[in-house]
Amino acid sequence: MIKYRLGCPSGHEFESWFRASADYDAQVLAGAIECPLCGSIDISKVPMAPSIVTRATVAPPRPDNAIAMQSGDAKAALEALRAIKKTIFESSEDVGTRFAEEARKMHFGEIEERHIRGSSTLEEARELIDEGVPFGILPALPEDLN
Ligand SMILES: [Zn+2]
Repeated sequence: MIKYRLGCPSGHEFESWFRASADYDAQVLAGAIECPLCGSIDISKVPMAPSIVTRATVAPPRPDNAIAMQSGDAKAALEALRAIKKTIFESSEDVGTRFAEEARKMHFGEIEERHIRGSSTLEEARELIDEGVPFGILPALPEDLN
């Protein structure tokens, strides 16, 4: 679970818990989070620490990142997530299992930066984190697991 400090355009601040950062993104896009004081759904994170620029995306190798569909909200969140994934897939190059290698080369300036996506093992992902290579993880959608 991750706790985020959130805010609306009127400057109200509140805190909310999410299973993962991607859940936050999907729920905000779906308008599922509203300011408890004024009801605005124009919600954004209030920075607590320097934010990391995500330039690369990796799909998780394990199916346990799948999103549970239990309620209408979860369905809406899933739709939002599909839209995010579509955008990422259309604007990035699929480097497949070379993801970790490519992301590392970009981070250390060996090759020019570009948007890439691909897959990595859990071990490779841990190494990237240890080396400070920025990347994002997309939760698997139910249709990815077939
Ligand atoms: Zn508000």
